[in-house]
Amino acid sequence: MPGRSDAEGGARAPAPLPGPLPEPHILVAPNPGPFTLDGTRTYLVGRKRVAVVDPGPDVEGHVRAVLHALGDADAVTILLTHGHRDHAAAAPALAAKTNAPVLGRAAVADRALRAGERIETDGGALVAVETPGHSPDHLAFHWPAGAAVFAGDLVLGIGDTTYVGAPEGDVAAYLRSLAVVEALRVRRIYPGHGPPVEDVSAALARFAAHRMARVQQVREALGGMPGASPAELARAIYPGELPEPLRTAAERSMLAILEYLRVHGADEPRAAGTDEGSHASERGDGSGGAGRAPSR
Ligand SMILES: [Zn+2]
Repeated sequence: MPGRSDAEGGARAPAPLPGPLPEPHILVAPNPGPFTLDGTRTYLVGRKRVAVVDPGPDVEGHVRAVLHALGDADAVTILLTHGHRDHAAAAPALAAKTNAPVLGRAAVADRALRAGERIETDGGALVAVETPGHSPDHLAFHWPAGAAVFAGDLVLGIGDTTYVGAPEGDVAAYLRSLAVVEALRVRRIYPGHGPPVEDVSAALARFAAHRMARVQQVREALGGMPGASPAELARAIYPGELPEPLRTAAERSMLAILEYLRVHGADEPRAAGTDEGSHASERGDGSGGAGRAPSR
């Protein structure tokens, strides 16, 4: 941008507003894998009054690392984006060591968070945001002071796809949740796996576009093979022979898309956030277009 480097180079120029954003303390759990990338990210916000977002897998060394990072914190709250083991299994062990309440929608939580509920830390409040789709219990945590959101498995820090598979996954809810996060207008996403995402709008659009492209692939595949099973669709759509557990994941992803098409079969998929009205109409009719089964 012309002129920008001049401004930055100017001696004693007024500090740009806003200043550098506060960042969370990040620990990467030692559980790398095809779904976890280099491992689950555990985030700490605050120093004395601290929130731990996703304590991670129940691995003793990781729990020890989180305790070490907490140092002499006075009050700790454990927040869960969702109940999957790679995010939540360490919660009981960490809670036992810190007397921290475990909050979220996961089954292991001590108390369910309401949408919009604030969790105070001395690094700023975190606000619970309902973001189902990857799982029905999924929450994101908006951190206004950091202009950021902790997004769990809604998006990953690498690539353009996350797991949205039956029976927990819900494609329509997933696309709505991407739009909900886009509406927060944050500058950074801290995902459950992978590095922080800085190109927030582009990344959210990329994840939505990938999911919609998969929906369209299934729609087209069904045109050539009406009534195809999830396994047949996975073989048609994913190149090559998938090793386990990717093959099962691909089939469950196909099943979630078939369910999406059963409800939304006649609609073209929409970009996240482009049409709020479509969301209202989806909700307005509980059966979401019953009697309008996919024609193929
Ligand atoms: Zn998960």
